[in-house]
Amino acid sequence: MQSGLNTVQNFLIQSSMGNIVVMILLLLLLLVIHFYSLARSKRELLEVVDNKVKVFQKAFDISEDGVLIFSDKNEVLYANRVVKKLMGLKQNFLFKPLPVQPKIKLKDKWLTLDEVIAIENKKTEDKMISYLQVEFSLDGQKDNTIPINLYIDSSPLGSKHDLWCKIIFIHDLRQKEQHKIIGSIHQLSGLPNQAQLQHNLNALYAKLHLNNKKLAIVLIDIDDFSMLRSIIGHEQMNHLLVKFSNYLRSLPSNLNITVYHTYYNNFLLTISDLDDEQEVYILIKDIQEKLASFYKMQDVKLYLTASVGISIYKGKRSESVRNLLDRAYKALAQAQKQGNGRIQEFIPEIASNDYDSLILHNEMHQALEKNQFEIYYQPIVDAKNEEVVSAEALIRWNHPEYGLIAPYIFIPIMEKTGFIAEIGKYVLEEVLKQQKRWELFKFKQIDVSINITLFEIESKDFVENVERQLQYHQVDPSLIKFEITEGAAMISEDSTQKQFREIKKLGIGISLDDFGTGYTSFVYMKKFPADVLKIDKTMIDYILTNKEDQRIVKAMIEMGHSLGMLVVAEGIENKRMYELLASYDCDMMQGYYFSKPVPAFEFQKLLR
Ligand code: C2E
Ligand code: CA
Ligand code: CA
Repeated sequence: MQSGLNTVQNFLIQSSMGNIVVMILLLLLLLVIHFYSLARSKRELLEVVDNKVKVFQKAFDISEDGVLIFSDKNEVLYANRVVKKLMGLKQNFLFKPLPVQPKIKLKDKWLTLDEVIAIENKKTEDKMISYLQVEFSLDGQKDNTIPINLYIDSSPLGSKHDLWCKIIFIHDLRQKEQHKIIGSIHQLSGLPNQAQLQHNLNALYAKLHLNNKKLAIVLIDIDDFSMLRSIIGHEQMNHLLVKFSNYLRSLPSNLNITVYHTYYNNFLLTISDLDDEQEVYILIKDIQEKLASFYKMQDVKLYLTASVGISIYKGKRSESVRNLLDRAYKALAQAQKQGNGRIQEFIPEIASNDYDSLILHNEMHQALEKNQFEIYYQPIVDAKNEEVVSAEALIRWNHPEYGLIAPYIFIPIMEKTGFIAEIGKYVLEEVLKQQKRWELFKFKQIDVSINITLFEIESKDFVENVERQLQYHQVDPSLIKFEITEGAAMISEDSTQKQFREIKKLGIGISLDDFGTGYTSFVYMKKFPADVLKIDKTMIDYILTNKEDQRIVKAMIEMGHSLGMLVVAEGIENKRMYELLASYDCDMMQGYYFSKPVPAFEFQKLLR
């Protein structure tokens, strides 16, 4: 090879380009030699490390401490299982610097691991250095730190004293805390208890902002517990609780559920990988169903129920997460007030003077963007058989600070500012989406009424927008109705009348809402193209005792019928009201007696 090279060289020297090319060739040669020796030293290095580590490898691999070995050039020579997990090391990390430099907080300063090692290199050669209780983090973010003890040691590799390596031990202090906590499990079930809950909650809260998931706290309280114990005895009761605990332990893992046994008959779940709040309800329903059939002993079968309180952190930054536990307990108390086996999500009760309308006014626009509005549905039933035949969509504002705000508080503000048109579009779209979902999932198809204001109907693009939305969502127009109040209908102008007729042409029905609260001209009524007449709640409130109201309501129903309308009575709160109005030949009814307005998920159970 050498002689060949010389020949080429001699030949080239004679040419004018000779010098440059020779230099390039020589450089190439040097590079080849360099890489060859580098490869050899790497192989040697690997051999040495392999031999040295082999003996300890088993120990390292099962160690709960992280072990990381670096070459003198800070390339990774070895990383055990714990380090791989801690630093997220995938394949092919050997003989390269760490893909991500972990950060260590030393005296309030975040340094990379390399920097820490460099500082220490200057100080000592072969003495082990230890740092107790430092913060470790992959990204240097405060929320992401892990308390560790760090040990750095350096050692010659085998007999070759010119080859040194650095050995890093990382002792994850979270494990130590975990061991400490084992003392705080519930004696009966072996599930973590209240003390552990407090400890874990803080960690959960700290991580919340990182993963954009929702967090639910669910409190499950077995009902009539003292009575139960007196029936089946203390021992059987314990047996039952253990069985229930074991069942809770086996809940599906995809939601990341942790079960706590907080009190004798009280269990708490944290659900931390929640995308959709409805998953919580599905889970709780399952638990309740399972519990119902839990106790069978010889010939005794008890139907067990549990009350459930829920509070959910919905991932909004402005929400306070610290009072989540308190809220769950409040929700449980609210559930228990309603009777056995109830599920209640925390709803703060707010008085109308609890907030400032100016604040609401300023926050409306953002609230829409931030998805703080939600549509509730209240069933409207057939008076003959109480079957759900229709529903009214009623908007709610889930305010991060005030909680659930009723529409009578914010709708008037929106009407004043014209923002109601935006909200109207939102409600229509949500209802159409919901109708489509119910259609796809084969729920019974019923029409849903949407409240609209005069302001909306009078805005120019109203009909156009409705038509476009219907097209877009491919929903049958007969599944939508618009409700307009009697008062608004009466003052509407000819142009508005035209809008109404166009809406009717689209196939959408119209209800005359709050009937009985205004002055209605019979002539006008005949002109107005409504399909449904809704008698206002104030006409129904005293119907059981007030003879005058009874006569008026009867007449209203007859009038509606004579104009070819169906009649709905609002505000039916008890059975006697229901029976009386049914006897008047009222077609449909709406009111708390059948159901309050509820979220879509709750409502659809009524459609099954
Ligand atoms: P509304 O159209 O008269 O709706 C019926 C109201 O009566 C609802 O109040 C409902 O919860 C309540 N209700 C129903 N049955 C009973 C009962 O048996 N007892 C009692 N005490 N109340 C009952 P909500 O949801 O607070 O709505 C109040 C008003 O806010 C509605 O009155 C409607 O005018 C307006 N509104 C609600 N949602 C919207 C919307 O999306 N757009 C517009 N423009 N207005 C809306
Ligand atoms: Ca209404
Ligand atoms: Ca009404």
